[in-house]
Amino acid sequence: MRAPFMMIIAVFALVTAVSPLAAQTPPPPIVKTEGLRQISPHVQIIPDNSVPLVPNVGYVIGDKAVLVIDTGLGPRNGAAVYDVAQKLGGGKSLYLVTTHVHPEHDLGAQAFPATTKLIRSTDQVKDIAEFGLQLAEVFAKRSPINAELLKDADFRKADISFAHDYDLDLGGVHAKMTAMGANHTAGDTIIWIDADRVLFAGDLAMRAQPAFASPHSSLAHWLASLDQLEALKPAIIVPSHGPTGEGTGFISGYRAYLNEIRDRTAAEKHAGHSADEAVATVTAAFGDRAPDKARLAGAIKAAYAEAQ
Ligand SMILES: [Zn+2]
Repeated sequence: MRAPFMMIIAVFALVTAVSPLAAQTPPPPIVKTEGLRQISPHVQIIPDNSVPLVPNVGYVIGDKAVLVIDTGLGPRNGAAVYDVAQKLGGGKSLYLVTTHVHPEHDLGAQAFPATTKLIRSTDQVKDIAEFGLQLAEVFAKRSPINAELLKDADFRKADISFAHDYDLDLGGVHAKMTAMGANHTAGDTIIWIDADRVLFAGDLAMRAQPAFASPHSSLAHWLASLDQLEALKPAIIVPSHGPTGEGTGFISGYRAYLNEIRDRTAAEKHAGHSADEAVATVTAAFGDRAPDKARLAGAIKAAYAEAQ
């Protein structure tokens, strides 16, 4: 348990070291398709190079169809991601799924032709109905390039929807999609490529600290979801942001972090302290181990609300 946690702490420290510069001049959120690389027999990815508002894009290539995972921010990125899918697939059928409906993962879908079948969990459909383009508007206000990329961006309707799981036969390889409930968002969807033991984990297990981005996000549920991810015994985890991980280190790192937040926050609540006091105390206890204070506070507030 200890080793993976220390590993994630070391990485957090690294993020702290580089973040002030990155915050001043964020590169434009463009999917760099030239980075396409094969990570397993059936899977290729375009890494995000840890650029904010760029997702890791995935392609699962079967004998008769190709599944694309995440679109990039807005139609221009979506069109570039689609071009790569066409080159990889030739005349094969195309499917598209997104890890969640945040703009950089989902709002390029409209650039794909109508023949591409978009697969959504019913929880994603609910997220779109509840929050619409709110986050896209926030992102668009951050910079002129974001505004340009998101111009006229809108959600595309699902061609195929599922409640819990959806198994897609691509020919010689299957992609199993699972709706994971409310972790980062209520519509979190993972994609498991059993033949290659590759897991597209969305925001559920990454190098960066977990973001409780939805009013529905639950720390207790997230911990249960991590058990579900670990049970798959992935050889490679492709998170929706940041570097790809071998084995289950991202999962154990998140578990240790969330367990510590849960336990420290419950102690604060039992001592009769307010949620704000718990945020201050638990944040101080983490110190440099959790450089993203906003994400840490989000997790503590969820833990406080859930503590018995
Ligand atoms: Zn997100």
